[in-house]
Amino acid sequence: MRGFLTQVRDMRPSQPPGEAATLAAMKAWVLHDIGGPQSFVLEEVATPEPGPGEVRVKLTASALNHLDIWSSLGMPKPHLPHVAGADGAGIIDAVGEGVTAVRPGEEVVVNPSVGCGVCAACLRGDTPLCSTYQILGEHRWGTLAEYVVVPDRNVLPKPEQLSWEEAAAYGLATGTAHRMLRRARLSAGDVLLVVGVGGGVSSAGLALGKAMGATVYVTSTITDKICRAIQQGAAGGFNSTNQFAKDLKRELGHGADVVLENVGPATWEQSVRSLEPGGRLVTCGSTSGTKVEITVPYLFFKQLEIMGSTMFDYDEFAAVTDLVGDGRVPVALDKIFDFGELPAALARLEAGQQLGKIVLRF
Ligand SMILES: [Zn+2]
Repeated sequence: MRGFLTQVRDMRPSQPPGEAATLAAMKAWVLHDIGGPQSFVLEEVATPEPGPGEVRVKLTASALNHLDIWSSLGMPKPHLPHVAGADGAGIIDAVGEGVTAVRPGEEVVVNPSVGCGVCAACLRGDTPLCSTYQILGEHRWGTLAEYVVVPDRNVLPKPEQLSWEEAAAYGLATGTAHRMLRRARLSAGDVLLVVGVGGGVSSAGLALGKAMGATVYVTSTITDKICRAIQQGAAGGFNSTNQFAKDLKRELGHGADVVLENVGPATWEQSVRSLEPGGRLVTCGSTSGTKVEITVPYLFFKQLEIMGSTMFDYDEFAAVTDLVGDGRVPVALDKIFDFGELPAALARLEAGQQLGKIVLRF
């Protein structure tokens, strides 16, 4: 961890010079260069003000995503200086002009998927295809800070039954998994295979798949992760380094109706081969590389569908908030760190040791 700077620095491009010293300060983990996860520096910066239609949330907890690591590596390169962090929960602390739906003092969860709300894509529920689409912590300053500013439509009441850590943890991962399973038309009675269980999206995919009435199998290279997934409701698991398509079909006598992928080249061929004729593979990521091969005759003879998915719309965020809020979908927490322990938390995420979400507590 690099040095903690005590002076207040206002780094917003629009801020007039000379005003910085008078602004209230907040602590934030700031990226000044693209040097990987060790580039985050804990600093004091000016607390952002909510603009028209925006609210400011004093965060109580934030959760990490691989997105934070990608940002620190410049994939894609954020506008610097940058504050990463997509997930969080806290208390509304200030509202901008025209905001009437929420008030200071309300406990909220933050929706990291920001669309304009009025374009054709937004109106048909394709928020991630909005022409001005933003992911919190990627395209705008995020939740690795004491305060975050978002549009008022990007907060929902915090479900009472959830702890602050749980409320902060489910947003991006569960929302993403929900859209994936919806796009792949997962139905009750289907067999769902979650490839590479352990990360946030795949853990959420397991929990959501169970809640939707599917029988869920998992794969991992780590036996302990398979055992923990079975404790969380998976019907069984297979080692990702083996030919898991064969293992799955031997165990079940048939393949999977839906495969949830975010590994990419390392597992792609086996993931496709795991599908039942007419099956759907849905992917939201590619942690092992970017290019895969497709055997075209296998694709059309089996009438397979391969689809991409990313993030989620406002209705989907509300749907997962309901599912998580009343306990139908448990939030898998891996480990809770103090806000100042970001480097250790990121190291755990980078090493792939987690099963569930890594949370920072303020
Ligand atoms: Zn839009």
